[in-house]
Amino acid sequence: MTIAAIREEIRKRIKKPVLPEGPENAKLVFVGEAGGAEEEKAGRPFVGRAGKFLNKELEKFGFKRAEVYITNVVKYRCVGVPEEKDVKKCEKWLKAELETINPKVIVLLGKTAEKYTPKLYNAAYLALPHPSAAMRFTKMRKKFEEGMEQLKLLR
Ligand code: URA
Repeated sequence: MTIAAIREEIRKRIKKPVLPEGPENAKLVFVGEAGGAEEEKAGRPFVGRAGKFLNKELEKFGFKRAEVYITNVVKYRCVGVPEEKDVKKCEKWLKAELETINPKVIVLLGKTAEKYTPKLYNAAYLALPHPSAAMRFTKMRKKFEEGMEQLKLLR
């Protein structure tokens, strides 16, 4: 399946989708939790405050947002932690995305991504604090940035 086809399916099934974005041949995939209000409005992942933080961190560590693939476990807005039914509804898409892209590294942003992202045998996984935690708490930011350093070495 192509990423275009996966996006099309999501668009057909979800009333207000937050569509994944990035190149199909990306070496790095970032997996977040679910969209928030800003993402729902834009239909794009990580465009609100956490997204701005993520963009800055990407740049700081020498990555361009346009070169990485960004997606979420749940392809629409969730208020609070997504429920099992939200994850279930979307899990086939995340699996298909990862299998299509077949990236070198999959970055898990926060506990939801850690818990629900399927494991590919030929990819490396890196778990980072969620950007919304990293932007608020010094300790989390330090962990996040240590992870970004690791990512520089892995890529
Ligand atoms: N938080 C997420 O986990 N994903 C988004 O797209 C935005 C905020």
